[in-house]
Amino acid sequence: MATILEPGEIEAAAGSPPFLHLPPNNLFALRARRLEKLADGHPLADYLRLVIDLCHVQQNLLDDPPRARPLDPDRQRVCQQHGLPPFAADSLVREDTWLAYLDGFLQRYSPTTNAAIENAVTSLRSANNGQRKAWAIALVSGQYSLLPAALVPFLGAALQAAFSHWLLSATNLALKPGDSLSQCPACGSPAMAGVIRHRGKHNGLRYLVCSLCACEWHVVRVKCVYCEQSKGLEYVSLDDDRHAANQAPLRAEICPGCHSYLKLLYLENDAEAEALSTDLTSLALDMRLEQEGYVRLAPNLLLAPGGE
Ligand code: FE
Ligand code: FE
Repeated sequence: MATILEPGEIEAAAGSPPFLHLPPNNLFALRARRLEKLADGHPLADYLRLVIDLCHVQQNLLDDPPRARPLDPDRQRVCQQHGLPPFAADSLVREDTWLAYLDGFLQRYSPTTNAAIENAVTSLRSANNGQRKAWAIALVSGQYSLLPAALVPFLGAALQAAFSHWLLSATNLALKPGDSLSQCPACGSPAMAGVIRHRGKHNGLRYLVCSLCACEWHVVRVKCVYCEQSKGLEYVSLDDDRHAANQAPLRAEICPGCHSYLKLLYLENDAEAEALSTDLTSLALDMRLEQEGYVRLAPNLLLAPGGE
């Protein structure tokens, strides 16, 4: 008699899957390269080209980080001992270290001749550190109404570069799952999207991608990452002639219990796909789901909700 295993059971049967999947050192260059392919002819092409520029500066900050005082290794050790995120965003944005990455970002980024972009960069350049921290606290806590929407992509880019740099420079990283499935174990930020991986030891497993530091952590499939129910989940994709629904590289997992959804990338159907670029180029799916009454809880730090 054949037994059909659900994806979660397959994972359990195969032994404990690796909890973490760290982003590569050229994460931001990969995002830029992917966006280059997706921007041509896209309705948001101008915005996507702005993001490409931001990604190049982010990669530069990762390759050649600004001079900044290192994070306190003792605190990281204590956090890990207690199973807490060692790079907790809500406390680190209140401190000074990340400001070196914002300064580095503002020095290395030269805005194109677009008045709105120039104004946003100028207000970040002229803001004092107290104001910058207040904006960053609002951004990482998802309180988008507390900062000007035009600043989001630039501030988000600088913060992502700082937290990814800390994550990728860490040694002996031993992370425990957060309080919620959707919470990053490294920095405590919410997931931006999920990726169903398709190669090697991660084959068939779902990893959630952090909206801030890009850390990926394992969460069983077919389970709402917000209310942890598995009942009645549905998977929808963009109307697209190229893919049958069960082969679409991007699908939203919709939960009828809490009326939220999470975008999932299936690398099996598009090996080159990358979470941030896929998310920003599929806002039509978000608009459709919003019209149907579903709530998006996953932030993208380069885009203010409702703003373009
Ligand atoms: Fe994170
Ligand atoms: Fe739910």
